[in-house]
Amino acid sequence: MECVICAENFDATDRMPKVLVPCGHTACLRCLGLLPDSRCPTCRLDFNGPPTELPTNFTVLQLLEGVRLESTPRHAEDPAKKILRLLLAVALTE
Ligand SMILES: [Zn+2]
Ligand SMILES: [Zn+2]
Repeated sequence: MECVICAENFDATDRMPKVLVPCGHTACLRCLGLLPDSRCPTCRLDFNGPPTELPTNFTVLQLLEGVRLESTPRHAEDPAKKILRLLLAVALTE
């Protein structure tokens, strides 16, 4: 899963996947912060409020986590993956 603007994979930090309201498209927080106006980069519909206030697309984050788990051998725990999981756990309980 990657952002339509920067073509980088989403993550749980500065490239947090944000759902644009009301159109439902998703773009990363970093790119949304750099947009000159509050318009969806995909469909040009106005979205409400500052990017940080938009809901996070946890489905995308969970999908990313799933992809990583499948592509990484179980015996080699990736420290970055561990951190992402911790961040996810914190974000989900908030
Ligand atoms: Zn982006
Ligand atoms: Zn849109």
